[in-house]
Amino acid sequence: MHSRNWSHRNSSRTDVTTGTSTPRTAELEFKGVGVSPGIAIGAAFIVAPDDDTVVMREITVADVPRELQRFENALVVTRQQIHDLQHRMTAELGQESAQIFEAHLLMLEDRAILDEVVRVLKTKLQNIEFVVQQVAERYTQALLRLEDDYLRERAVDVRDIARRLLRNLAGHSSSALADLDQPCIVIAHDLSPSETAGLNREKVLGFATDLGSPTSHTAIMARALGIPAVVGMHDISLRVAANDAVLVDGQHGQVFIQPARERLERYERKAKDRRTIQARLTTLRDQPARTRDGYDIPLAANIEQPSDVDSVLTNGAVGIGLYRTEFLFVKSDHLPTEDEQAAAYEDVARRVAPYPAIIRTMDIGGDKFVSHLKMPQQVNPFMGWRAIRFCLAQPDIFKTQLRAILRASTLRNVKIMYPMISNVKEVIEANRLLAEAKTELAARSVAFDPDIEVGVMIEVPSAALTADLIAPHIRFFSIGTNDLVQYTLAVDRVNELVTNLYEPTHPAILKLIKNTIDVGHEHGLWTGVCGEMGGNPLLVPLLIGLGIDELSINAPGIPLVKDVIRSLRFSQAEELAQQALRSGSAEEVLANCRALVNHTAPEILELVE
Ligand code: PEP
Ligand code: MG
Repeated sequence: MHSRNWSHRNSSRTDVTTGTSTPRTAELEFKGVGVSPGIAIGAAFIVAPDDDTVVMREITVADVPRELQRFENALVVTRQQIHDLQHRMTAELGQESAQIFEAHLLMLEDRAILDEVVRVLKTKLQNIEFVVQQVAERYTQALLRLEDDYLRERAVDVRDIARRLLRNLAGHSSSALADLDQPCIVIAHDLSPSETAGLNREKVLGFATDLGSPTSHTAIMARALGIPAVVGMHDISLRVAANDAVLVDGQHGQVFIQPARERLERYERKAKDRRTIQARLTTLRDQPARTRDGYDIPLAANIEQPSDVDSVLTNGAVGIGLYRTEFLFVKSDHLPTEDEQAAAYEDVARRVAPYPAIIRTMDIGGDKFVSHLKMPQQVNPFMGWRAIRFCLAQPDIFKTQLRAILRASTLRNVKIMYPMISNVKEVIEANRLLAEAKTELAARSVAFDPDIEVGVMIEVPSAALTADLIAPHIRFFSIGTNDLVQYTLAVDRVNELVTNLYEPTHPAILKLIKNTIDVGHEHGLWTGVCGEMGGNPLLVPLLIGLGIDELSINAPGIPLVKDVIRSLRFSQAEELAQQALRSGSAEEVLANCRALVNHTAPEILELVE
């Protein structure tokens, strides 16, 4: 368990109105969607939304002390910031220019304003941000109505100070995530995939967000980094105060604020049990992912950045089944050059050799944006100018990437994969550009693997249904269930309001997967799964029974999935799949999957349910 010693923290607080001390508030429980397993305990680090919008939220009488404490904390921070500004201004521009801050400080200590905030908070029972904004606005309006010029100008000061207070109430800007100096639990309205990619796993013990869903790239990232996370918590970012003690249970989707001592003790015990099971799983590292009746399912790993390769190797993956190269573009402030890209791809290929590394060409768009690529705002980005569509429209950018991948292929373990293929024309065009990239490298006498394998992601229903047309142009299929489910079921993968409709065991999905596998086999192609469905230990027997040849999953999940495979007979998986293909209900299929794992590897359920 990642934790700081919270159970013994003395968290009494000072009352903003009387200056007396009150005991810490009772434990609060929040429920969301657990997207990255594990337990983390630490101090809350609040990330403020980018805009200054203040939302009204009703509170209860029991919440009043918490809101007052947040107000008190924000006042302390604001005073300190103004003192610092005052000193800086005095040093740079002289005493007179710094005078303005005297007025700001006086306002922060003005009893009339402070008492009014406390009174409104207690009578209206609204969140402190909203109360501060309302009180400040009333003062501003009153000042603006005065005759006296000097007093009218003070209205600007009230607004200024209120804005600063609100910002401090809301928390830190997301850029502060880059240089955290203390371990913490990040609480945010939302985190973008690039913000998550930049999280320092030494410092971020866990995170919880208002928005998000299990197959958003933010959630995928959290799993790859092994950071416990819960998303879809509606308004948690408004309900937690900076430095509150927070417990994140990423398996069950629960977050506890100021957890009670008994809760902490119970979680300590759970964490110990988890560690025991995980210690047993690590002994599987060098064992094959082979069913009890001798059927091998190579387990590869998904990576987002070259630094993830360490985790790939320590978790015993036999290669990389999906390298999401777009994060190289997302994390850079300029378009990475051919040399910069080649260096990253060569590094990955060399470190996993002799195992294969499947490098997916950039899947920009959807929920992954790159500011320097100047993509237009799109109303429906997941169905818009994304992935291969963007690349084919920008052949120079695409060919630069293809040349860089080719340069990394000299050890002959690199394969190329195109994302979001929706028709065969795209494959033919991408292959044409690949042939050009090869010719250009040959003209420069640069070495590469001339017979590099090319495959496509099957993640759009039209591709799954026309796999037979695509198959002659490529060497493998890799099913991207994250997008396949969203496009087939018309369920936005990043929208927490429809998470309950996101069903990988839906009969439509099973039919598309089965068709892809069968067509692949008829054409002599292997077919893998690189979407999150393949990393769900409950669904692995189903995929195996459907005939999948390889799974590529988040690296920390490999030991668990390997254990499920090693406890299983292929015949059991086949029977499960046959039954599933006959079933008309996603729930029934899921229940059968759970029943099988409960039968073959019961202790695994402890870790996943
Ligand atoms: C998928 O869609 O399943 C997939 C693996 O790609 P991504 O999650 O990057 O869209
Ligand atoms: Mg996808």
